[in-house]
Amino acid sequence: MIPTCLTSLDLLGIDYTQPIQNNVPKESSFPGGDSQIGTVGCVAVDGHGNLAAATSTGGLVNKMVGRIGDTPIIGAGTYANSLCAVSATGKGEAIIRSTVARDVASLMEYKGLSLKDAATYVIEECAPRGTAGLIAVSATGEVTMPFNTTGMFRACATEDGYSEIGIWPSV
Ligand code: ASP
Repeated sequence: MIPTCLTSLDLLGIDYTQPIQNNVPKESSFPGGDSQIGTVGCVAVDGHGNLAAATSTGGLVNKMVGRIGDTPIIGAGTYANSLCAVSATGKGEAIIRSTVARDVASLMEYKGLSLKDAATYVIEECAPRGTAGLIAVSATGEVTMPFNTTGMFRACATEDGYSEIGIWPSV
């Protein structure tokens, strides 16, 4: 078994089409460390197959005051059980409607799909195109990072020294 850890940040075309105001302070100067540029997620498995998922986000540009996205909703943007750990990124409203993270686990649990097949199905068939990506790891150390957006910042590292990073779709 290979312990694995991943991080992600989505790259939605829409996030970068908003007008930029010159007088807005740089991101690092926001009190409390709030970010203006998206999501960081992490999933991990240890040598005993224990799984964990975590997701943090600043939400989306021009979000409504008081909006709660998918990130803190267990089963939507974040989920882990004994089969897999999943952290999603993208347009929260679409991710909530598709219960993206839990659906990956459900397909493994009820249909016996592999992590990769379950995650690919959810990203390609459930979440609308251009809205979502996820990082996931299974209890056996399988890793997958599918997305249906233009790109997704992502990385993976294992205890034995393997690592990979990516932004655009793999060829
Ligand atoms: N999913 C987050 C939200 O809708 C945004 C993101 O992933 O960047 O709040």
